[in-house]
Amino acid sequence: MIAPDTKWGCAAGIVLTALFFSPLAGVPNDQRLFLFWRHGDSIDLIVACIAMSLAIGFVVSWSLRSKHRHLAALLICGIWFIPLTCLTASVVRLLPGVRWLLAPTPVAMGLAFMIAMLAAAIIKHPLRVTRLALDILPVCVPATVVVGAFLVSLMMARSVSTTFGTIGPEGSHARGPNILVLVFDELSYNYLFDGTSVGRHYPAFHAAALRGVSYTQAKSPGGRTLLSLPGYLAGKRFARAEVAGGLMYVADSPGGPLVALEAQLEDGPCRQARAAGYRTEISGYYLPYCDLLKSEVDACRTISEYNSNWIGAPRSVWSPIWTNLSLLPHQFPTGLIKNPIYSYHQKAMTAAIIADAQAPFTGSDKVFRFIHLSIPHAPFVYDRDGFRLRGDPFVTTNEAYADQLRYTDTVLAGILNAHASALDNTRVVITADHELRANTAPEENDHVPLFVLRTSQPAAATVDEPTWVSDVVRQVISSR
Ligand SMILES: [Zn+2]
Repeated sequence: MIAPDTKWGCAAGIVLTALFFSPLAGVPNDQRLFLFWRHGDSIDLIVACIAMSLAIGFVVSWSLRSKHRHLAALLICGIWFIPLTCLTASVVRLLPGVRWLLAPTPVAMGLAFMIAMLAAAIIKHPLRVTRLALDILPVCVPATVVVGAFLVSLMMARSVSTTFGTIGPEGSHARGPNILVLVFDELSYNYLFDGTSVGRHYPAFHAAALRGVSYTQAKSPGGRTLLSLPGYLAGKRFARAEVAGGLMYVADSPGGPLVALEAQLEDGPCRQARAAGYRTEISGYYLPYCDLLKSEVDACRTISEYNSNWIGAPRSVWSPIWTNLSLLPHQFPTGLIKNPIYSYHQKAMTAAIIADAQAPFTGSDKVFRFIHLSIPHAPFVYDRDGFRLRGDPFVTTNEAYADQLRYTDTVLAGILNAHASALDNTRVVITADHELRANTAPEENDHVPLFVLRTSQPAAATVDEPTWVSDVVRQVISSR
């Protein structure tokens, strides 16, 4: 015979664990691609669910046996709090009509009212509060089943490949010419340039403009990441990009048929570089480059924007928990949990991509390396001196963006410095995928900075003609 407190403990463990993982379960089908979910993540998730259920079950059954009624009621309410918050946030996020509820003021007022009521109830009627918390459990069973079903379908999805080959493998240095394409996500032309020259407060970009060719009318393949990066990979401009069934599709015209991006890469820079004898390497975040380019590049590493799970870290039961919490809304109060986790993920992700950008050019006579950096895009977690936590790193302010841009400037300096001995036979293309979208008119979103550094370039030159970045990359690969 199982004791009632053990039964309640088991039920609470299973239900509250499921509700806790509702943000992960609630990732829409077409957005799951960006999670880069792998079979290893599924194993971590199963272990995390079992461990969390047992821990919650233990605390609940201990509380029910405890003679300290107030402490028991407090513990049980405390243990309900985060799972119910996760469920509420997921439901609110899925219902666009009630998104205004995420505004800080109504949330703070509602939360303060609820906590005050709950505290009064725990003090006056601890047993009734405990009873009420248990009575909620059967009501939550349907939500538990739904969340469980979505988590199982996530675990059944195709495993995304996140790395193969080695960027900068052991070996003698490449003779070159090497090509390094640096795409800084959301690097703003308007911030970087004073008119048609780069401001001195960004010394590395300023020096790059003095050393090479800077283009004042350069256009990326699209005004947002989802259009622009597929365009860079394919060397052309698409009118539409969509994700479905874990794959990326693109169309040449707004009403044109969608085709798989993999089938559009024949004019892409990686294939062109390979045909010209280059070893090809790619590192970046956001898109599943290793799946998309598995037959185009020799080495690849890609990092999910959301999955706090894999960047060189050992397998951990905490990984699915961090990932789940990083999917909460960034607004108060869930931002108090989400924002530090996401900020540290941005830090680790940026450091990993910078390391790939800095790796020496080896493994072949000449190397073509494409790097997609996660800065100066939000979350804003840097200033000139490095990592710095902000209250809400997702709010785009002039100061937050300019701080992150100053850090991006030091990153560019660091990458060029790492290749200092090879710069004589290395061509560097520095550009962006789009403008700072929050501060720019939609028709200007594809106006990006573009600098090309070549050893043969004796002094600064400026090109004021309208220019496609992909055309310039093509010329850099084909020129001798
Ligand atoms: Zn972007």
